[in-house]
Amino acid sequence: MVKIALLGSTGSIGRQVLNVVERYPEKFQIISMAAGSNAVLFSEQVNKFKPKIACLSNPEGVSKITEIPKGTEFYYGESALLHAVTDECDIVFDAVMGYAGLKAVKYAIELKKPIALANKETLVAGGGLIMPMARENGVDIIPVDSEHSAIWQCLNFNKVKEFKKILITASGGALRNVPVSELENVTASDALMHPNWNMGKKITVDCATMVNKGFEVIEAMWLFNAKREQIEVVVHPESIVHSMVEFSDGAIISQMGIPSMELPIQLALTYPDRLFIENHELNLFGKTLNFKEIDKERYPAFFTVDKAMEMGYNFPCAVSAGDERVVELFLEGRIKYTEIPLYLEEVLQKTERLPLTFENLEYTDKISRVIVDELYLKRCK
Ligand code: NDP
Ligand code: MG
Repeated sequence: MVKIALLGSTGSIGRQVLNVVERYPEKFQIISMAAGSNAVLFSEQVNKFKPKIACLSNPEGVSKITEIPKGTEFYYGESALLHAVTDECDIVFDAVMGYAGLKAVKYAIELKKPIALANKETLVAGGGLIMPMARENGVDIIPVDSEHSAIWQCLNFNKVKEFKKILITASGGALRNVPVSELENVTASDALMHPNWNMGKKITVDCATMVNKGFEVIEAMWLFNAKREQIEVVVHPESIVHSMVEFSDGAIISQMGIPSMELPIQLALTYPDRLFIENHELNLFGKTLNFKEIDKERYPAFFTVDKAMEMGYNFPCAVSAGDERVVELFLEGRIKYTEIPLYLEEVLQKTERLPLTFENLEYTDKISRVIVDELYLKRCK
């Protein structure tokens, strides 16, 4: 029985982790679970899965929790998340959105627990600290992001196997067919209508701008110890090929399947074994696969994230935290879609270069959001 500490249980990934646990109750148990603000759903989940530890980060939600099962310890407040990273678990599943996931990963490494990592912001902001720390402590970081899971599968679950190139596929996001001249007028609901994947709001907007793909390049560099020039992004609108690896003899191995996160989620918990998932057959008859380069005019934010990666230090953290705040402003209808890359560029320009330490990441995370808010106020005047 694998005991899972599930962080971010109420989110899109978290709910699918619970589907996997429900599918194989004899194999998996939720030992602890944590969420942010969605107290109503969290309460339902806690009463259904009866974890030993339940943690809600936003204290405002507590009044909505009417019942806690006997035998469940309940924590709430800003640092509650860390209580869910318990020594009693066999694996930590980090499905929290944003920078909040990083501290939990750090703590899981200190406890020497393997980590199934959906939370890509951890590696974007702090890969330079997290990866060496994981190596020193012998902690396995298992990819959950579909592209990285695909790459890992193409490498036969061997993250250090030699390869020539990684080809990360990108769907192009919800606005891929909107003429560039009309992007200025798209609304949040337009950007949230992803053609192939059903995900949380922040990542769905990041897919439209391709900030997400910029993050995934950084994530792949850390997970597979790849140089930037070994990674290519390929726009593949059908989302059938989830990514590919090219070897020195020219062979390209790909992983294909229907667009579903349940496969990478389940595989992160069962590898090298593969267990049955219903309705996951891909019928290739009649399908056409297309592959294109990224359109610079349509996706300027991808190149801003790439620049942050080249700049190193705390710049990827700045662009990631800045993006969290900018996407919030966009979802609230306060800024235009086409302003997102402009804000991210400004965040980079205004960020002070700092050595990579956990303290500096904490500071950069906070200050980057302030930089965005100040820019917003200035532009409103
Ligand atoms: P969602 O927004 O759907 O869910 C985020 C989860 O994180 C929620 O459970 C939320 O709680 C929780 N959360 C946020 N802040 C905190 C906090 N401070 N403490 C505790 N819990 C917190 O996001 P997704 O599930 O879409 O994405 C999660 C992560 O996985 C992201 O990093 C994303 O980039 C990555 N990912 C997602 C994919 C997808 O298909 N969705 C694919 C690949 C990667 P609450 O809702 O209660 O506030
Ligand atoms: Mg992905």
